[in-house]
Amino acid sequence: MDYQQTIHWSVDNVGEKTFQAAVAEAGALLREGKLVAFPTETVYGLGADARSDAAVASVFQAKGRPSDNPLIVHIADKQDAALAAAAITETAEKLMDAFWPGALTIILPHNGTLSTKVTAGLSTVGIRLPDHPAARAVIRASGCPIAAPSANRSGRPSPTRAMHVAEDLDGRIAGILDGGPTGVGLESTVIDCTVEPPLILRPGGVTSAEIEAVIGTVDVDPALSEEEQPRSPGMKYRHYAPEAPLTLLDGTTAFMHEQIRASRERGERVGVILTKDLAGESGADREYVLPAGDTETVARELYHALRTFKETEVDQIFMQVIAGEDLGFAVMNRLVKAAGGRVLTENRTF
Ligand code: AMP
Ligand code: MG
Repeated sequence: MDYQQTIHWSVDNVGEKTFQAAVAEAGALLREGKLVAFPTETVYGLGADARSDAAVASVFQAKGRPSDNPLIVHIADKQDAALAAAAITETAEKLMDAFWPGALTIILPHNGTLSTKVTAGLSTVGIRLPDHPAARAVIRASGCPIAAPSANRSGRPSPTRAMHVAEDLDGRIAGILDGGPTGVGLESTVIDCTVEPPLILRPGGVTSAEIEAVIGTVDVDPALSEEEQPRSPGMKYRHYAPEAPLTLLDGTTAFMHEQIRASRERGERVGVILTKDLAGESGADREYVLPAGDTETVARELYHALRTFKETEVDQIFMQVIAGEDLGFAVMNRLVKAAGGRVLTENRTF
């Protein structure tokens, strides 16, 4: 892949002249078939013109993404869903009204105008309207439906800060819009509206309870909680992997301390992700301290935490599991993948 000079824009002050100039330049690059990374409320996305085979092919190349993993199409305004979908069902319309702009990707039959590389040859397309002024401004300026996967090298934790995008993709893409840390920190929820009842393929920023409050009962892909082949092509791949192996710990603080001690006794340099109340006494070589233990904070900080542990510094990372309800279900889905399924459970006697 040829090296290119990546432009870095800062877009902190929405509406200011520098914001408008950056957005216009980024939009023009996208229209020319170039790749531009931009912030959304979930994670940073790597945008490309969804109608251009060449532009979409370069997304897969820059990321090293398997070609059978379809991309989500991002739009700036609700009516632009028609640029990608063949028809908007009543259920989809309700979801759009309730959750857009926001962290919900809706799968519908596509209208045949997109690159087949976006849809990986499927008859359907995932569409999302992100809740971020820079994302919407750039998409609008491009005049295109924008295919945008997370702006990381495939397999790595998704980027929640512009520096994460630069770490993975500098020299491989035309530009990066820096809008600061993202708010949600986890990818969108993906819901398939081509089946009845609708089926959640990936848990994310919008919970199934919130969705059910709007459209009634939905199914959740059983593969999300069991060892089954997932229905969404992308869900079968190794994802979110930190540089050193991550092991999840299901047990007490004493159990965590014991695992850290045992790992150090094996000669490993140990990193741990923990909350403030447990900081300073873990016995690990390096601690990443979460500012708070609530699920929203864990979701927002998780990928940054995973990225801070470099293989030159630690051989093993530990983190305690969190409660798996609501947003916690999405967090645990990412954590188990990041850990490659390694979970140690304490033998407790009551
Ligand atoms: P990412 O782009 O990394 O956020 O991943 C997008 C996720 O959405 C992957 O898990 C894809 O497999 C899934 N996805 C995108 N489009 C479709 C579709 N048409 N059908 C099913 N899953 C999809
Ligand atoms: Mg991704």
